[in-house]
Amino acid sequence: MHLSCPFCHSTNVMLVEASTQQSTTTLASLVTPTTLSALGTTVAKTFNLPPIVGGIAGTFLGGMLGSVLNSFTEPSAPPQQNLCFCHNCYQKFPTHLLH
Ligand SMILES: [Zn+2]
Repeated sequence: MHLSCPFCHSTNVMLVEASTQQSTTTLASLVTPTTLSALGTTVAKTFNLPPIVGGIAGTFLGGMLGSVLNSFTEPSAPPQQNLCFCHNCYQKFPTHLLH
């Protein structure tokens, strides 16, 4: 494939792959069974319930919440966009502009 910059027509063009990958720090990763059972224990203490009830409630809630959050964070493959970088005019442009 002959690469030439659509802006300055230089051939000093390099293919760069734009990574569309986002940070994996989502809400789902924050909601762990440990945090939820701890939360459940806190709730149980607040309502004067035995800690085991809170633990069970927390785990149950965690399972529910986890499945809900997982359905929201269903992997929808982001379109991989290939970019070119021109070393002559420092422009970035998608590869389809080359054709
Ligand atoms: Zn250029």
